[in-house]
Amino acid sequence: LDRFKQVNDTLGHSTGDALLRQVGERLVRIVGDKEKVGRIGGDEFQVILPDKEDRGELGELAERIIAMISQPYTIEGSRCLIGASVGIAVSPFDGADVEQLVRNADLALYAAKHGGRGGFRFFSRELLQAAEQRKTLEEDLHDALERGQFALHYQPMVEARTNTVSGAEALLRWNHPTIGLVAPASFIGIAEESKLICRIGEWVLRKACADAAAWPGPLRIAVNVSPVQFIEPGFPALVANALAASGLAPERLELEITEGVFLAGSSTTEATFNALKSLGVRLALDDFGTGYSSLAYLKSAPFDKIKIDQSFVRGATVDGARNRAIITAIVALARALDMETTAEGVETFDQLDMVRGLEVSHVQGYIYARPMPEAEFLANATQ
Ligand code: C2E
Ligand code: CA
Ligand code: CA
Ligand code: CA
Repeated sequence: LDRFKQVNDTLGHSTGDALLRQVGERLVRIVGDKEKVGRIGGDEFQVILPDKEDRGELGELAERIIAMISQPYTIEGSRCLIGASVGIAVSPFDGADVEQLVRNADLALYAAKHGGRGGFRFFSRELLQAAEQRKTLEEDLHDALERGQFALHYQPMVEARTNTVSGAEALLRWNHPTIGLVAPASFIGIAEESKLICRIGEWVLRKACADAAAWPGPLRIAVNVSPVQFIEPGFPALVANALAASGLAPERLELEITEGVFLAGSSTTEATFNALKSLGVRLALDDFGTGYSSLAYLKSAPFDKIKIDQSFVRGATVDGARNRAIITAIVALARALDMETTAEGVETFDQLDMVRGLEVSHVQGYIYARPMPEAEFLANATQ
C-alpha cells in the first residue's frame, strides 16, 4: 500500500486495522478467491494465482487492483485515501520456488514504488542485476573514504560577458576497485540513506577548500552540499573550520544546495542560512526550476546565485519558445533580487549563443569543458 503509514499515524491503529481489513476484502472481491489472498505483514499483501502466466492479463489485473484500492474508504466517520503499487513475478521463469518468487516480486514492487507510486512492475533480470550492484555499492561505500577511492574533478564556471573562467564546481568521483568510475548519481542517494554523506561531504568540502586556496586570486570554488549534510547542526561550524584550516577567503567559497534542504523540514534551516551568511560564504540554489515551489525559497533564503537547470537549456533550442521564456523570467527575477545566474549543461554553440543572448551571468557545460582533474583545470584556467 502507498501512504498507508500516513493514514495509520494520523488516525490511529484501530482505523489502520479497519482499513487493512477493507483492503483485504476488496482484493478478495477482485481475485474471487479468499485462499489466494494473504497479508504478509505491515501494509503488504500477496496474491498467488496458480493458473495465470499471461503477462498482458496479469498487467491488466494489477491495474484493476490498483484502481480498486485507490477508491476512497469511509472508516469510523473518516474518509481515507490510500494507493497501491504492485510487483509481479511469474512462475517458473522468475523463481524456482515460492520463496524466490516472493523475493523477486518484492524487488519488482520496490522498483514500482521507486518509479512513482501507484504503478506495477514485472520482475526482470535487469532489476536483479541493478539490485545486486546497488548492494555491492552500498557495502563498498562504507570504507571507500578510508581507502582513498574518492577524487574531485573540477568543471570551469565561465563568466558569460567576458568569456573568462571565474572558478570551478567540484564534482565527486568514486573510483571503485572492480566496477571502475562510478557516477555520483549512482551513489550519492545511497550515501544519503545511511548518513555516510556527512563524512563524505566533509571530505569534499575540506579537499575543495584546500585545493582552491592554492589557486590564483579570484577563482571561486563551488561545492555541492547534500540536504542531509546541510541540516546537521554542526554544518556551519564545519564550513568555518574548513575555511580556517585551508586559509581560503570565505567569499571564494560557493555552496550549492537544492530545494531538498527546505523539504527536509528542519527547524534549524533558517539559523544555518544566517550562520553561513555571517561567515561570508556564497550560496547558490542548484537545479532551479525542477522542484515545486522554488519562488518561496528564493524569498526566504539569502542566495547569491541561481543555477538554471540543464533541462531548460536543453529544451531551449529545440522546443524553443517556452523554455526561453522561462530562462528569461528566471534571469529577470535573479537580477531584481541581485543574484547571479548560471546556465548549466550548455553543450552546443546554439545553446551558448542563446543563453548569452538571454543575459545569464555565468555558463557551465561541455561546450567549454567537462569536469576534469585539478591539474588540467588549472592549466586551462590560467593559460
Ligand atoms: P549537479 O550539481 O547539477 O552537477 C552538474 C552535473 O552535470 C554534473 O554531473 C556534471 O558533470 C554534469 N554536466 C556538466 N556540464 C554538462 C553538459 O554540458 N552536459 C551534460 N549532459 N552534463 C553536464 P555529475 O558530476 O555526474 O554529478 C551529478 C550530480 O551528483 C550533481 O548534479 C550533484 O547533484 C551530485 N554531486 C556531485 N558531486 C557531489 C558532491 O561532492 N556532493 C554532493 N552532495 N553531491 C554531488
Ligand atoms: Ca507501504
Ligand atoms: Ca551543482
Ligand atoms: Ca545542477
